[in-house]
Amino acid sequence: MAHWAELDSDNKVLRVLVGDNNDPAGDEGYSWIIENLGGTWIKTSYNAGTNGFRYNFAGIGFTYDPIDDAFIAPMPQCGHDAMILNSLKRWECSSCDDDIRQRLAGIQE
Ligand SMILES: [Zn+2]
Repeated sequence: MAHWAELDSDNKVLRVLVGDNNDPAGDEGYSWIIENLGGTWIKTSYNAGTNGFRYNFAGIGFTYDPIDDAFIAPMPQCGHDAMILNSLKRWECSSCDDDIRQRLAGIQE
């Protein structure tokens, strides 16, 4: 199934809709969406985790980065300075990872 993400003027995802793969226009529902709903829509893939299409499957509140052609989740508010966007365009915090490791170590003791 084709999925389409609507972007606002700041490239923030407003919603994600499923397009019709069998749309007679042959465009997986894109022209139907534009004609009936208007707005700015780009494709996203439910299988982005395996096929890498635009890195991540878009969700409401995600941001689309047109330079890297990537959907990026909102940054987690953990308050650490170690938060980085990794090469898979996912947030990663080594300070949070350390907390988890310490907690796991505590359980095992
Ligand atoms: Zn953190």
